[in-house]
Amino acid sequence: MINVNNNLLGVLPSDDILSQCIHCGMCLSVCPTYELTKLERSSPRGRIKMIKSIARGEMPISEVFADEMSFCLDCQACETACPAGVKYGSMVEAARVEVDNSEYGSFLKKKLKRYVLKHILASKRNLKIISRLLYYYQNSFLPNFVKKLCELKILPQRIIELESLSPKVSKKFSDSTIPEIIEPQKERTYNTAFHYGCLMNVMFADINKDTVELLSKTGCRVVTPGDQQCCGSLHAHNGDFETAKKLAKENLKTFGRHNYDYLISNSAGCGAFMKEYYYLFEDEPELKEAAQSFSESVKDLSEFYSNIFPYEFKASNETVTYHDACHLIHSQKIYSQPRKIFNSISGIKFKEMDESTWCCGSAGIYNIVRYEDSMKILERKMKNIEKSEAEKVITSNPGCIAQIEYGCRKNNLNITVEHLATFLNRSLK
Ligand code: SF4
Ligand code: SF4
Repeated sequence: MINVNNNLLGVLPSDDILSQCIHCGMCLSVCPTYELTKLERSSPRGRIKMIKSIARGEMPISEVFADEMSFCLDCQACETACPAGVKYGSMVEAARVEVDNSEYGSFLKKKLKRYVLKHILASKRNLKIISRLLYYYQNSFLPNFVKKLCELKILPQRIIELESLSPKVSKKFSDSTIPEIIEPQKERTYNTAFHYGCLMNVMFADINKDTVELLSKTGCRVVTPGDQQCCGSLHAHNGDFETAKKLAKENLKTFGRHNYDYLISNSAGCGAFMKEYYYLFEDEPELKEAAQSFSESVKDLSEFYSNIFPYEFKASNETVTYHDACHLIHSQKIYSQPRKIFNSISGIKFKEMDESTWCCGSAGIYNIVRYEDSMKILERKMKNIEKSEAEKVITSNPGCIAQIEYGCRKNNLNITVEHLATFLNRSLK
């Protein structure tokens, strides 16, 4: 098992855990928010100190504290850098629950966030209805009309920005196009299961299609249960552990009905969280074992094709670079695997970009709730992408794809952004 966000279901950690920070400052230079402000309070060390004071009752929750907890990307780069093994991610997630329960932070934003998490993202039916309406909107005259109103300053400019950030809704959703069982197209190698996610289901159905096609073409049988649910990661990262556990329980039940060797995830955030289901049910004997074997079966696509099933992909004659999604590199500790795949494909030119592990600013819903900060972080990523001189950026997380595509449009860069599944599937055509 990797990454230990254990026992901290929205509850501030014990003093012992909070005291693991030895104030060495090794995490400061990798923290995107500290790099923006150079303020101690915007650093992991400063935030841990504040969380500790709140937990000890030495300091009340304040507007500054609430703002710092929301300013943090929860990218977990500080965890990777920390020599003392401090699990910062679970600390900030628990602190956000405290803020949500306090009078601080925008009341409207908090209400809206809770509503979206509980009643839209956690409900496949509601999410599909909203997505279908958004699809009709996106494909009508309305976006241009709204843009005009924004240009005339009748509507706030922010609407255009948010609209450009929002990925296009897929014409057909994965749950209606991916059959429950896909047989391998060549001699069977592995029995796999596939989790198509919530937003991936409605906004990145093409990537999901590429993933199951890729698995099947390389000899895997793919089971994609139609009654699967959102993994619950966005809920947990935003303090709604009750819904996160409910969704996790349903997924354990659903996937538990099928036989498979590995559960393949093509979304860094979902994969990271599903690998932690075990910790959600550590204290529930009837689910503990099922959760452990479920978590152990979860593999990111790059992990699968590197550690478990190295496959000979063909050359595609392109110059590519790779952006490490935070939940792959910092949560799942997956770094060498995608590179091993690229380096095994003769013909492509793989160019490492500077700071490939630096967050792109997408961070779940961060780019929506903290647009300005997110754009400053994206700017740094786009400079590094441009400097790499690659014609294609490959990554493994839907949020990063949407954010970097937005960055390319904003900076007029003629660079394609592709998911690893799409890239590998195309190489087999
Ligand atoms: S999670 Fe990321 S943004 Fe937050 S303190 Fe750690 S490095 Fe900084
Ligand atoms: S690297 Fe770890 S121990 Fe050092 S200041 Fe950061 S969180 Fe604390």
